[in-house]
Amino acid sequence: MRDSAVSTRSAELFAKARALMPGGVSSPVRAFGKVGGEPFFVASASGADLIDADGNARVDYVMSWGALMVGHAHPAIVEAVTAAAARGTSYGAPCEAEIELATLITEMMPSIEMVRFVNSGTEATMSALRLARAATGRDCLLKFSGSYHGHADSFLVQAGSGVATLGLPDSPGVPAELAGLTLTVPYNDLEAVEQAFAANGSRIACVVVEPVCGNAGFIAPVEGFLAGLREITTRHGALLVFDEVMTGFRVGAGGAQTHFNVTPDLTTLGKVIGGGLPVGAYGGHRDLMQQVAPAGPVYQAGTLSGNPLAMAAGVAQLRLLRAADPYAALGQRTQRLIDGIVAASIEHGVPACGGALGGMGGWFFHEGPVLRFEDAKKSNAEFFAPFFHACLERGVFLPPSPYEALFLSTAHDDAVVDRTLRVVNEALGEVAG
Ligand code: PMP
Repeated sequence: MRDSAVSTRSAELFAKARALMPGGVSSPVRAFGKVGGEPFFVASASGADLIDADGNARVDYVMSWGALMVGHAHPAIVEAVTAAAARGTSYGAPCEAEIELATLITEMMPSIEMVRFVNSGTEATMSALRLARAATGRDCLLKFSGSYHGHADSFLVQAGSGVATLGLPDSPGVPAELAGLTLTVPYNDLEAVEQAFAANGSRIACVVVEPVCGNAGFIAPVEGFLAGLREITTRHGALLVFDEVMTGFRVGAGGAQTHFNVTPDLTTLGKVIGGGLPVGAYGGHRDLMQQVAPAGPVYQAGTLSGNPLAMAAGVAQLRLLRAADPYAALGQRTQRLIDGIVAASIEHGVPACGGALGGMGGWFFHEGPVLRFEDAKKSNAEFFAPFFHACLERGVFLPPSPYEALFLSTAHDDAVVDRTLRVVNEALGEVAG
């Protein structure tokens, strides 16, 4: 556990923040609960680097939890947002930028014929679930333990990410009756999905899945898992919802669904499509989306939805990604980083395994294989905390929890990855001896 070095500006700010906001943060994992010590406060960011309130620069592998694909403060995004702000920050009436972003999304992700913009990933999954329930006339949903789909009540049942990090199996405040409609089975376990459908098939509106799991650490789908979900849901008249809030436009140009060639009925998006501003979206077949108000009866609305600044940032980032198609190179670099961390850990006598896809990856201090959250929980979380801090002190900011994926952007070039691997080696030397 680090001491809080009260003399730093970050420590001063954190003390003030804790008096004003629960835990001193606006979202739980930021508080460093799983790694101990106190978070630094960010003063600015550029490219692959975060600069803290005391002037320290660190390579950022959080990248706004995956939202940033082209680095911090990319000039094209800054320019687009600045120009949009000068034309007004919010209208509460339609604007052309919504069409531009919707066009990019539907062209790059062909299963989405129509899209509704919201303000966060949480709103996207919550709204997709409502639509799935309405379209099927069924109330239950099936999800996977350790997955995270935002903080709506129905999803806070055996959830991953911050909920796993805090060790809350559930959250107080979620009605038991509602949680009872959420069925949870282990990731990558088609047999368990078959059994759940055999027992409750006529009640299940949809299966909601992270097509690559990023909220129990990084866990790739095993061969046939996603295609199996497609087949089972179709057979039982349930919808298949891919939660691509994290994977969309991060693991590949068309998201995980294009990479694995499995077409969901509904897709939820967030993060990358907002270019670092608050945006979420859900979309799918035209006939399904036409059921959303005002085209249809399924109500969902938002004061700031389709916000012109957020749309401008998303359009700018997606245009850059479409023009450069950086995914193959980014994927190789992410894989090299993860392979390097795993190899160095093993060399230092610490069992490890890991994986990567596009600009997202992760490792576990566990010999593996890690196929599901139940395996991830066996990893050496005690070793993770000092390792995290040893890297942080040397200028590398890894996600502050063993149950989060890490994220690269196009600003993380080979030199940055080389430097990171040197830091990782030194940190392992310090912590593992
Ligand atoms: N779904 C997934 C797969 C996510 O990773 C997240 C956030 N990490 C969400 C939904 C919720 O998104 P938000 O934090 O924007 O509400």
